[in-house]
Amino acid sequence: MLRMSATDRLSLRAALWAATFACSLPTAADDAGFTRCLAELRTQAAAHGIDSATFDTHTRALPPDMTVVDLLDAQPEFTTAIWDYLAALVDDERVADGRAMLAQWAKTLAAVEARYAVEPAVVVAVWGVESNYGRNFGQRPLVQSLATLSCFGRRQSYFRGEFFTTLKILQQGHIDADKLTGSWAGAFGHTQFMPSTFMRLAVDFDGDGRRDLVGSVPDALASTANFLARAGWQHGRPWGIEVRLPQGFDPAGAGRRARRSLNTWRAAGLTHADGRALPEGDEAAGLILPAGPTGPAFLTLRNFDALFSYNAAESYALAIAHLADRLRGGETGFYTPWPTDDPGLSRAERRELQRLLRARGYDIGEVDGVLGTNTRRAIADLQRQLGWQADGRAGRRLLEHLRHAD
Ligand code: CA
Repeated sequence: MLRMSATDRLSLRAALWAATFACSLPTAADDAGFTRCLAELRTQAAAHGIDSATFDTHTRALPPDMTVVDLLDAQPEFTTAIWDYLAALVDDERVADGRAMLAQWAKTLAAVEARYAVEPAVVVAVWGVESNYGRNFGQRPLVQSLATLSCFGRRQSYFRGEFFTTLKILQQGHIDADKLTGSWAGAFGHTQFMPSTFMRLAVDFDGDGRRDLVGSVPDALASTANFLARAGWQHGRPWGIEVRLPQGFDPAGAGRRARRSLNTWRAAGLTHADGRALPEGDEAAGLILPAGPTGPAFLTLRNFDALFSYNAAESYALAIAHLADRLRGGETGFYTPWPTDDPGLSRAERRELQRLLRARGYDIGEVDGVLGTNTRRAIADLQRQLGWQADGRAGRRLLEHLRHAD
């Protein structure tokens, strides 16, 4: 058998490393292409109101981050059921943290409500879902991510607009460059605004002349309220109504945008979920069935649409709406249960599950309550061993099994 020299071991390690990160590391061609692309963008900067000193300061010797290009095209390996999504976003921990924020920022939130006519619980609910009340901003330097996506991948023209807008935010001095980190796609700060949304809707509420969605909670809360106000938020109105469908209801007529008057829905036999009659009137309402006709059903009103505009997903809008209700003392969960016998887990339960997986020798990374690919692969492996369906899902049944298995 041949002995492997140190050099061979090093090159083997390099080869393994390169294979692991083949799609992530910039090649020499990527670097050259990026340099050319930045040079081209520099010629367009003036037309976007960016002076060349700003452009050079923030792009000098900047390498591309090819991992964001991978993320742009990534297909999720595992799907997430609506009840799992809500179990983590609207858990007791986020409700308790949100109530603490309502108390801590009561004066600011009252001033925000007076100016923008959006209730404190709603603003705080958005904050809680977007950045966990300022705890998770995202770690990626915004200029680097957006410069890379401006030069590689399939949405370069969109990301160029966001890139130039980011430079403008820096040029105008709203946020310090070293604090401007965010998601891979460029959402940043307490409210996770994209740069273009920042330019349209961020406000300076603490009066220091800067619109600082990273360093100023008052600026962030007011900017969220301003967003919702512009999206048509109606103060004091509900976001929707949980309803009960009549026997034999045809779900083909459902849809957030298939709006009918409350009177029409009443005539079709819909009631409140507890059987009380719906309010009368001409107000337009859509009907959403997030888990199909056997799960909870909701008539959605204009405020639901305002939440939807923040991040175009019904599950997202429902999470904000439900969290806002709970912050105001509303019930846990909905009147109609989700159609599953294996409910989703809160973040505290997810952390417990991760600790139990770790105890079994699985390398799931940090115990953070986030079900990343490593955790889900470990769950799928365990499910296979148990003879269960290997869907990688963290549900109550698996947690109970692990609690009692050891
Ligand atoms: Ca400010």
